[in-house]
Amino acid sequence: MLARRIPSILPCMNRQESLEVTKIYSIAGLLSERGKLVQERPFRSPHHTVSSVGIVGGGQIPKPGEVSLSHRGVLFLDELPEFSKSALEVLRQPLEDKEVTLSRSKITLSFPSDFMLISSMNPCPCGFYGYEEDRSCTCTPHQVQRYRSRISGPLLDRIDLHVEVPRVNFETISSKSVPESSEEIRSRVNQARQIQQERFKESATLCNSGMVPAQIRKHCELDQDGKGLLHQSFDRLGLSARAHDRILKVARTIADLAGEEKIQVAHVAEAIQYRALDRKFWG
Ligand SMILES: [Zn+2]
Repeated sequence: MLARRIPSILPCMNRQESLEVTKIYSIAGLLSERGKLVQERPFRSPHHTVSSVGIVGGGQIPKPGEVSLSHRGVLFLDELPEFSKSALEVLRQPLEDKEVTLSRSKITLSFPSDFMLISSMNPCPCGFYGYEEDRSCTCTPHQVQRYRSRISGPLLDRIDLHVEVPRVNFETISSKSVPESSEEIRSRVNQARQIQQERFKESATLCNSGMVPAQIRKHCELDQDGKGLLHQSFDRLGLSARAHDRILKVARTIADLAGEEKIQVAHVAEAIQYRALDRKFWG
């Protein structure tokens, strides 16, 4: 449910983005009305039986795959460990390059694939690992290990935020408190995006997640406390260099959402929290 709501808090697509998405849907034969511009960010949730060709695209006359159909939008993979190893491995290159290159004997084609990957998984095959209340996990340690090892470290490294979602109890579901609306959240997101547009106006980078190493050094400077905390967690969690850069980018975004010019130690701490899976499963 959370994943499906993400497009509702993303900034609206600008004309350029609309055109890009429309072109892809046109090539894929998925435009419902000819000449109509796609204006909603795509949300794709392929079944876990999808092939690697289904993910990246292909065929005799190459067609865009799920990573391109979710360009400028969200690709949601529910129950991530259920997807085939090959389907998960082919995700890495488009995640990194934001485009897919398909080679055929006569031609080489590129499709854009700048999408937000969202995925969900259980902590173990039965789903009750680490559960405190009335039910306990019936899996053997070997089963748990095998299930988790389906997600490779390199893929996990490329995911910025890992969030544990505890079961929602009845009191919360039935409570009358009014949650913040998507519109309100979207306006905060838009403000943070404006800060980033200003920051990157003289480069090809669109937002914080696209920062190259030189930009990370320039825009993600930490004070002594922040540096200390990151150093400490780096050693303790055994983070990769890639995870290190991701923490800095996420901390920058958290600071932008808070309207702070400088990244503070609390922003770093929050960003580190989102590496939950490095700590718990693979750390
Ligand atoms: Zn279990």
